[in-house]
This record gives sequence, C-alpha cells and structure tokens, in this order.
Amino acid sequence: MVRRLPYWKELDRTERELIALSPDDEAEIKKFIQHVRYAESCTIPAEKPMDMMKISDYIKMGKSMADMPKVMKEYGKIDLNGLAERFHSPLLKKLMTDYLPANYTAYSFLVSYATMTSGNGNIPIGGSLAMTNRIIEKYKSMGGELYIDTPVKRILVENGTAKGIELESGKKVMADEVISAVDLSFLFGELIDKSYMPKELKKGYTSSNEYPTTSGFQMAFKIDDTFSGEDTICFGCDPIIIGNRHFDRIFVRNYSYDKTFAPEGKAVLQTNIPQTDEDFHYWKSLSKDDYRTKKQELIKEVTNRIVRKFPELEGNLELLDCWTPLTYERYCNAYHGAYMAFATTLNAKQLKIKGELKSLKNFYMAGQWIMSPGGLPIAAISGKFAIQRILKKEKKSIDI
Ligand SMILES: Cc1cc2nc3c(=O)[nH]c(=O)nc-3n(C[C@H](O)[C@H](O)[C@H](O)COP(=O)(O)OP(=O)(O)OC[C@H]3O[C@@H](n4cnc5c(N)ncnc54)[C@H](O)[C@@H]3O)c2cc1C
Repeated sequence: MVRRLPYWKELDRTERELIALSPDDEAEIKKFIQHVRYAESCTIPAEKPMDMMKISDYIKMGKSMADMPKVMKEYGKIDLNGLAERFHSPLLKKLMTDYLPANYTAYSFLVSYATMTSGNGNIPIGGSLAMTNRIIEKYKSMGGELYIDTPVKRILVENGTAKGIELESGKKVMADEVISAVDLSFLFGELIDKSYMPKELKKGYTSSNEYPTTSGFQMAFKIDDTFSGEDTICFGCDPIIIGNRHFDRIFVRNYSYDKTFAPEGKAVLQTNIPQTDEDFHYWKSLSKDDYRTKKQELIKEVTNRIVRKFPELEGNLELLDCWTPLTYERYCNAYHGAYMAFATTLNAKQLKIKGELKSLKNFYMAGQWIMSPGGLPIAAISGKFAIQRILKKEKKSIDI
C-alpha cells in the first residue's frame, strides 16, 4: 500500500493548505473538511445482502454510520456544481468538479474522499493485475477451476431453472447453480432473454440523464521517473473536443510511486478524459477508419497539451496505448464502455438490483451493476452475496 502521511493527518494538512490558498473560504473549507470526517463513518454494508438483514443488523449499521445523516443534510441535495458555487476561489471551484463529473451528487464526492482519508480505501501496489492474481491464487487453492478466453454464449434455461451454460465453442457445461458476473446489459438480451430484466434496471437504461455512466478516453505513456509531477495533476488547457464534448481541463497521473509498473528509471504517466453516454454514441457512430484517424488526431492534440504544461516532458513521452469507451465495450462487453455502474444524480433514486431473479431458479447475479455507483468493492461484495444466497437455500450458515 502507498501512503505518505498517516491518514488522520492528511485532512488537517488539506484544511490548512486550502485555507492558506483561499482565506475567504475558511468557513466553507472547515465545514467541508468536517463533513468529510463525518463521511468516514460510511462503509458499504458487506456482511450480508440487505434483504437478509434483520432489524438488529439495521440498528448496528445505523449506529456505525451515525454521522452520515449530517453529511446527507448538508450535501445530499446539491450536485458538484452546487458545491463548487459555495466557494469564492476559482481554484477551489475547480477542485470540487475535477474529480467527478459536475452533475454527480456532492455527497458521493465526500464519501469517495472519506474512503481514502479514513484508510478504508487505498492503492494496492501492483495494481489490478497483482490483485486479480491474488484472487485467482486463493480461488484455485480452494479447489476452484478457472477457464480464461472461454466466452459464454448463453445460459441454459429449462422450465424457469438455470441448468448450465453454453460456450461460444458450442460446448455445454451443466451446473447446479449459475452465477453470472458479466455486465448486466450483456446478460439480459445476450445470455438470457431480455424479458428477465428487473424493472429498476430498465429505468437506468432508458434514462441516461438521471442515471449517467462514465467511461474514458485514455492514453498511457512511458516516461523517465525523474518527472517532477506528483500523483494526479489537473490543469487548464486549450479547448479540445473529445467524443461529443468540449474540454478545457485534463489531468495526468504519474504512477512512479509503484515501481512494479515500469522498468528501472521509467514510470507510467496516464491521462483519462471522462466520457459520457453521449460520447459513447459519438465513438460508436464512426466508421472503423474514422475511428482510427480520430484517435491518432487526439493522441497528437492531447500529447501537445501535456507537453505545453510540462515542457520537461518534451521528447520524453512514449505512447504505450490509447483507448476509448469502445475498447471497454469490446474487451469486457461493458455497457457504453462504462467502468463504473450508473451514477446517482440529484433527481434519481439509487439503483439496487437484487442478486437473484424470481422467475429464474438456481441463478444469481454478481458484478458492479448490482448497486450504484459500482466499482471494485461492490463487484467483490456482490460475489460474496451470491454465495450467501446459495448457502441460505442450502440451509447452511451464511457467515462467511
Ligand atoms: C481506468 C479505471 C480506473 C478504475 N478505478 C477504480 C478505483 O479506483 N476504484 C474502484 O473501486 N473501481 C475502479 N474502477 C472500476 C472497476 O475496475 C470496475 O468497477 C470493476 O472492474 C467491475 O467489476 P465487474 O466484475 O463488475 O466487471 P468486469 O471487471 O467488467 O468483469 C466482467 C468480466 O466478464 C467478462 N465477460 C464479458 N462477457 C463475457 C462472456 N460472454 N463470457 C465470459 N466472460 C465474459 C469480461 O471479459 C470481464 O472480464 C476503475 C476502472 C477503470 C477502467
């Protein structure tokens, strides 16, 4: 894990630095920081699925998150634009809207930040690959078998019961229980009939204003690890259209803190320009040739902007790869290339999908789309919940 200051000191330091930057905003900064501290009590209920919780579980959860109502009262009815408006300093306004899209609820920003300041969230050394490999090792050590590059064509259903899967190769694999962990937009319509789709989910797909998704136009570069920029730096740039929208701010993230990512003396620098449902449709509308040409054009344009901001990188940016929402769709069957689930906006109720279907027995759903806003913790917890549902059916203890 990477950590520079003990987490309880990071918020104090941030408060001091922000006040020094904008003394006029002192009261608002103190309120913000205080509510981030309150939001540190917010954790994802991971013990068991909500529908298996007893009253005593709800009381326990309420007690452990006792400070969260204060956060919701102060920041639950505004979005990040509204939060930015509370500050005088133009820089602090940017700070509030640079991390998440400005139409997302303000409280989700506080909760994300609090996850890091509380120490409940962190950056694993070795990144996703090392973490995935640890999961695989554990799974295999418990007798699990893993088949990769083995796409599933459909889930076999007989008389309202899941019976197994059919692979793209035509091979059928029969099973007592089937747990799907693919993107739900692919599950309903491709692996099982769309008519099984829960109505909450339909709502998400038909209203992208209320339930937006986020993907990215991303580029990764090899650089020398002497680059002076630390962590993530957002900066203003000449306007540029990426997807269907204008951007005048971009960011670079320097991964030099993780020595496992690059050979000695080198580091990975990445930029990620957020892409929406609207942008996805733009990329999708391009022919193969236009898509390639557009990518090349943007690689040049974005690289120029990075070099203009950091002249020390001139001649020291070797492009490793560039990818778009279509890449996530192609590799992962991800809805609109999204790498998080539906976001919660002010007008929308948070979507929660039960991990099983009334009309299909012996079948369970896992993956980030089970609960907004998605992400790795939700994906991991949903897998545990699927197992607990099977244990409950088998009248075994669900304490795992
Ligand atoms: C750049 C980036 C940064 C991120 N940062 C964070 C972060 O800091 N914190 C965080 O919590 N989350 C982060 N995420 C999001 C996180 O990666 C996702 O939320 C998570 O991977 C979702 O897990 P999942 O299992 O639901 O879906 P996926 O990871 O998409 O897994 C679904 C799998 O199903 C496979 N599949 C699809 N169709 C089939 C088929 N027909 N047959 C067999 N297999 C199939 C896909 O190939 C894929 O491997 C980030 C994502 C990205 C892209």
